[in-house]
Amino acid sequence: MTRHAFDLFIIGAGSGGVRAARLAGQRGLRVAVAESAALGGTCVNLGCIPKKLYSFAAHYAESFEEAQGFGWTHAAASFDWSVLKANRAAEIARLNRVYGELMTSVGVTLLRGRACVVGANAVEVNGVVHGAERIVVATGGWPVPPDVPGGELAISSNEIFDLAEFPKRLVVVGGGYIACEFASIFNGLGAEVTQLYRGEQILRGFDDEVRDFVAAEMKKKGVDIRVQQKMLGLDKVGDGIRVALSTGDEIVADAVLGATGRTPNTAGLGLEALGVALAPNGAVVVDANYRSSVPSIHAVGDVIDRVQLTPVALAEATALIDHLYGDGGRSVDYMHIPTAVFTHPNIGTIGFSERDARARFETIRVYRTDFMPLRHTLSGSSERTLMKLVVDAANDRVIGLHMVGADAGETIQGFAVAMKAGATKAVFDATLGIHPTAAEEFVTMRAPVVAS
Ligand code: FAD
Ligand code: NDP
Repeated sequence: MTRHAFDLFIIGAGSGGVRAARLAGQRGLRVAVAESAALGGTCVNLGCIPKKLYSFAAHYAESFEEAQGFGWTHAAASFDWSVLKANRAAEIARLNRVYGELMTSVGVTLLRGRACVVGANAVEVNGVVHGAERIVVATGGWPVPPDVPGGELAISSNEIFDLAEFPKRLVVVGGGYIACEFASIFNGLGAEVTQLYRGEQILRGFDDEVRDFVAAEMKKKGVDIRVQQKMLGLDKVGDGIRVALSTGDEIVADAVLGATGRTPNTAGLGLEALGVALAPNGAVVVDANYRSSVPSIHAVGDVIDRVQLTPVALAEATALIDHLYGDGGRSVDYMHIPTAVFTHPNIGTIGFSERDARARFETIRVYRTDFMPLRHTLSGSSERTLMKLVVDAANDRVIGLHMVGADAGETIQGFAVAMKAGATKAVFDATLGIHPTAAEEFVTMRAPVVAS
């Protein structure tokens, strides 16, 4: 058997690639990682982390307002976009170094450049071909630009973090995670935000009540959400970019954010030429163990287009390395993946929406509450919180848990453990609350609003 230079060649140093490289390196394997951009991938450089930092920044605007109800007076606050950008860039640069050290400290060879698969056991980077017994494709995804005349005038989430000028007027196109999060963030930072969505309500796939509730809260805070609106085209005008809408209306903005989805990053990677099966959108087709149709080539993360979340990419990489080099005991359970949308207020959700549960289970019970959180009794804010439980009546198990409210992501993480352990509503009822918190409402909802 040919002895290749590397046991494992990983393409992409994002969430999945770095995890796979670290675990394989810790096992003493000869590992190479190729990365064409910054270490850490989308999450660290252009996704989760900078997005959450900007979300924190945006929340301060409300905090300054709300503090007055608690007796604080202060000079009018002002926001400096260049300070936020510079501080974010410094923190991301620190993380880039950390990610590099995480890999080199376990002996991983880092190759900086664009990789192309040139054989079932060969990867080319910067004109040099490297042999590897196995290849892992962890190249992530890329934003889909708006397919309308003038679409090139729109920016994507890749560019929004570093805009030279703060966009005082921002149009956001789309109704998914990215569109809703950035609409909230830039609204909080002081921009005039219009969000255009083609369907009836933003955040398709989430619980319908959650969608209506968060849309109403975002509108209260100032986001102009316009549903059933399509963008027909963009052109430059004297003081900005003009957005033509299907209703005949026009909006002029300083920036237009296209947030209409992401596509797997396989173009130009050489996979098709090798006969690696790809889905129509370019995703690498893999089996239960993340193996492609070419047995030496594997893929994890956004590039396989299952669930585009960092913890999922990490879990897939962990399962893959365990399958290839460990005892194979690790696998990814795609049921009940907890997720948060960092809108203002946040959404936290686990498991089935009421609609999906109704389609899948014979009888369900639904518990819900919405209330003004204690803090807002003095803050002057009219923000409300929604909490909802969906229960399978056949066995009393909680199969859906949803929240719209401050720190919903933080609140629901622990409940995800309970649901993973199969907690029933009776277990929720037997759990004491922590008073006074918003989270205690999840264990004090007694009467179902729906039982059918
Ligand atoms: P990536 O992290 O995208 O890494 C792929 C890497 O491969 C990149 O660094 C890329 O440069 C490199 N690459 C590509 N092609 C090549 C090549 N030919 N040669 C060499 N290198 C190559 N998820 C969450 O869980 N929570 C969040 O809050 C969240 N927020 C997000 C916000 C935004 C704006 C975006 C865009 C995404 C967000 N996500 C979030 C999703 C999350 O970022 C992704 O699911 C995750 O990064 C996927 O990891 P990955 O390893 O599959 O790919
Ligand atoms: P999503 O798939 O979440 O949303 C895409 C949105 O664009 C949908 O509202 C969709 O509408 C709309 N859309 C799609 N095509 C068109 C079109 N041709 N014209 C008009 N509208 C269109 O993608 P995102 O880009 O928002 O995010 C990608 C993924 O990244 C997310 O799915 C998520 O997995 C991950 N992510 C996670 C975050 C988190 O964990 N907090 C944050 C950000 C991203 P419709 O619903 O009608 O199809």
